[in-house]
Parts: sequence; structure tokens; C-alpha cells
Amino acid sequence: MAWRSLGKFVSQSLSVGGRWQQQQLRRLNIHEYQGAELMGKYGINVPKGVAVASVEEAKEAVQRVFPNEKEVVVKSQILAGGRGLGTFKSGLKGGVHIVKAEEVESLAGKMLGQILVTKQTGPQGKVVSKVYLCEKLSLVNEMYFAITLDRTTAGPIIIACRKGGTSIEDLAEKYPDMIAKVPIDVFKGITDKDAAKVVDGLAPKAVDRNASMEQIKKLYKLFCECDCTLLEINPLAETADNQLVAADAKLNFDDNAAFRQKEVFALRDPSQEDPREVAAAKADLNYIGLDGEIGCMVNGAGLAMATMDIIKLHGGTPANFLDVGGNASEGQVVEAFKILTSDDKVKAILVNIFGGIMKCDVIASGIVNAAKLVSLKVPVVVRLEGTNVEQGKRILKESGMTLITAEDLDDAAEKAVKAAAQ
Ligand code: GDP
Ligand code: MN
Repeated sequence: MAWRSLGKFVSQSLSVGGRWQQQQLRRLNIHEYQGAELMGKYGINVPKGVAVASVEEAKEAVQRVFPNEKEVVVKSQILAGGRGLGTFKSGLKGGVHIVKAEEVESLAGKMLGQILVTKQTGPQGKVVSKVYLCEKLSLVNEMYFAITLDRTTAGPIIIACRKGGTSIEDLAEKYPDMIAKVPIDVFKGITDKDAAKVVDGLAPKAVDRNASMEQIKKLYKLFCECDCTLLEINPLAETADNQLVAADAKLNFDDNAAFRQKEVFALRDPSQEDPREVAAAKADLNYIGLDGEIGCMVNGAGLAMATMDIIKLHGGTPANFLDVGGNASEGQVVEAFKILTSDDKVKAILVNIFGGIMKCDVIASGIVNAAKLVSLKVPVVVRLEGTNVEQGKRILKESGMTLITAEDLDDAAEKAVKAAAQ
């Protein structure tokens, strides 16, 4: 858990990718169509919809699922929000379109296989492998609803806002007084009083109050039973026929619960994740990809943070957060090195090990072995200190590798920044 909050701090303090980055890693994020199916199972109102992966499937689905609809909502499926206002690299504007039924096929063709860039994807964007075709609802009111975990109350909290559709960050800025927060006592579960407070926060215009409370209770049930860390519905909408509908949802799940949420975790889509992070997760390394030019290999989360800070202080930017852990094996060190060297953005690598439980000679052997496996094109700055430091230094020296050695952390960071700039 400490690592998780740390990950949050890292991405926020450096504001690289912000909220998004932190949620991509160590938490399962599922596609909108998968979330809709799960919500449907819990009796939550969702639009009728079907996900397709090809133009042929789109054509067939329109005939089968929407034979009488004039218009259909076509939604790009990527694991990032802000799609409505996103732009495809092809030039097509918007990742969510409402089109005539006969136009679905051609639009799906323009979205599938293409890269969509939104506020949350970063400039590299994400590939659209599926589009979700939904019935077009006439939305008369868009609200915001979320359940997440709150540090202060150490439990779930429901956030409701009568204005929705745009991101919570924007809502919080524009309508700070309209955001209702209702903490839930996990032991009691959601009470009628809690649900009523949430309804007051949403302030639906026409939907029946009891029906709204029922939907909120079902959402809370899903959140708890599925080990969610976030269930965000934006918009939670009112339709012209006075129904409350979850028109778009983002669900995240706690990876510590993977063992008891096998069905949910089978939905993981690695194609949407940072490939560096996928590789790191396989090797059981604590890694967060960032946008800088200095690859960091450090043992211990605290030291990793300090290393990143000191790189910044010397005018550089870290390419990643990587904590190889207190007792990494040589194999893990090799994997870590492979991930760092396969990243084009990395112009220099800084290895900063304070040997405690982790021994300097193990790290040194890992570096030497990794260097044999991958062609080292960038300078490597090494600072070793602590347990078995002499053996470690000897291994590096005898390997014949060209390394830049550093005396202390400050010296190491300065040398790495200089090396990356050359
Ligand atoms: P996001 O931009 O990634 O959050 O994608 P959304 O699924 O929230 O879609 C963006 C916007 O499209 C929503 O806020 C709605 O205003 C609109 N939208 C989505 N589905 C429907 C629908 O069925 N009917 C109507 N009228 N608007 C919709
Ligand atoms: Mn949305």
C-alpha cells in the first residue's frame, strides 16, 4: 500500500501524466463496454450496446442490435477518458460520435486501428481496437457520480455533482460548492440516509427519488463486491423518459484483490498499457514510466524518490521511477536494465544503489550481464554504497565496461545530467 501512495505522489509531484499515469499502473482499468456489462449484471441502468472489432462486425451489429434505431452512438474504446474532445492522429475529430445507423460502418472503419489522442492519453495516444456501439439516448441532464477511496476517512466516499459531462477537475474548479461528498461506513454499508444525501447532491430533475436511491445502492454494492478503487460515472444522465442511466463509466480495481477477482482481472488489456510497464510488471519490478531522459535504477522507494528529485535539481528529468526492491535477483536487475535501455527517450542511465539487504555485488553482476545481452548505447553512471561495495566495484571494473563512477548521490546526478545532455 505504501508503494501505491508513493506512485501517486511520484506522478503528481512531477505532474507527468498526472492522475492518469497513476491509475494506469498497479490498478486494473477496464474498457467502457466491459464496465457497462458488469454494471448491467448489478441491475444498474446502462445503454444497450455492443462492442465490435471490425467493419463487418459493425455492419452486422447495427442490423441485429439496432434494427429500428435512426441514430447510434459510436464510441472509441481506449483506456483513457476525454474521448469526446479527443482527436485521431488521422485528423478525425472526436472519439465519440452520434451518427445515422447507415453511417456506423464507415465511421467504425475510420476509428478502428487508428490512434486517438485525448487530454489523458499523452501525445502518443492510444490505439482503438474496438468501438462500442450504443443506443442513442436523449439525455436531458448530465450529472457526475463517483465512488472512490478516501484517505481521511479510510473508507469509500461517494462524490456527486449536479453538473456532469466534463472532467471532475474542471467541475471542481467551476462549481466547487456543487460537489457533494458522502463518506460511507464500510461496516454499516450504505444507509438510506447516505443514499438520500447523494441524491440531493445529484439533484435529478425528474427521476424518481427512490429509483435514484436504488441505483446508488447498486453502484455501491458493485464497488465493494468487485474490489473497485474507482467507479466514476460521467455522465450519469437523465433521459427524456425519466430514467437514470450510466452513460459512461470508468472502473478501476485494486490489484491486491486480483486473487479473488479472477473474472474481472481476465479483462486486462495490455495493448492499452505502457509497454515498459507491462514488461516491468512481469518481472515484478516497481516501475512507473515517465517522460524524461535519465533512466533510473535504484533500490528502495525512498532513495528512488530522492534520486528523481536530485536529477530535477540538477536540471534533468527522470525517464522513470524504478525501485528494484530490497532483495532483487540478478535476473530482475537484468530485466530492469533491458527496460531502461529499450526506451528511446533514455539518454543516460543512473544506477544508484545503497546496499543493505540488497548487495552491491548482485547489482554489479546484473549490470554486467545485462550489458552482455543488450547493446549499451547510452552512458551509465553508477553510484554504489553499502554492503559488498568493494566486490561490486571490482566486478564492474573487471567487466571492462565503460562506466562513469560517482562518489555520492549529488555527484551521480550531476554526472548523469551532463552525460544525457551530450
Ligand atoms: P468521454 O469524453 O471519454 O468521457 O466519453 P463519454 O462517453 O462521456 O462521451 C462524451 C459525451 O458524449 C457525453 O458527455 C455526452 O454528452 C455525449 N453522449 C454520450 N452518449 C450519449 C448518448 O447516448 N446520447 C447523447 N445525447 N449524448 C451522448
Ligand atoms: Mn465521460
